[in-house]
Amino acid sequence: MDRPEITRFVASALLATLSASAATAAPPASQCFGTVSKGRLENGVALPTQGANFSAYSRIAAAAGRTHVHSTVEAIVTDAYAALRSSQPAVAYVYGETGWADGGRIRPHRTHQNGLSVDFFVPVRDARGRSVALPTGPTNRFGYDIEFDADGRFGEYTIDFVALAEHLRALDVAARARGATIALVILDPRYLPRLFGTPQGEALKRSLPFMKRDAWVRHDEHYHVDFALPCKPLRG
Ligand SMILES: [Zn+2]
Repeated sequence: MDRPEITRFVASALLATLSASAATAAPPASQCFGTVSKGRLENGVALPTQGANFSAYSRIAAAAGRTHVHSTVEAIVTDAYAALRSSQPAVAYVYGETGWADGGRIRPHRTHQNGLSVDFFVPVRDARGRSVALPTGPTNRFGYDIEFDADGRFGEYTIDFVALAEHLRALDVAARARGATIALVILDPRYLPRLFGTPQGEALKRSLPFMKRDAWVRHDEHYHVDFALPCKPLRG
């Protein structure tokens, strides 16, 4: 090869390397199909099992593939946690079940089928007032069997409604910044007055659609959030 030929060869090799690394750096965006009650997902991504101020409810369940979401939902959830690091620096957040990598029915949930549903465990404070992760494990069906009383208490743990409200607000802001919205929030209706009584309460009441009636399972230990994104029809 003469000199210009070598230059061309090196340049094309460099371009090939660059485009290959660009392809690995940006995985394809997810695509949702159908609805949260009857749907599926393509290119679903797993939520990170841990971050500076959050953790998954169970590493076992995460390893079993139960914490996948639409890539935009993953970005919203992690953006919100990042924002909370400055507004609620001492709060430990825990998320719960989301869905399979390719969506579809994930028992025992009735929704969670197209990557747009996320369960979050309530942020709690222990007997000494410290924000701690709710003890979720195999003995209490990874947290879902925990029952809080009418005052938001379970053993030494008390629901931190201020931290919960801040989280919902952060999710709402993060969703809008990514061109999405929150379609539904489910929390035990008996707790809504407590939530609306926090500093973020009025803003939440105005901006988020809360389910007002009782859901098919009591949502005392976790709150469920459905995000709204454009999905393709399930068939066709
Ligand atoms: Zn749920």
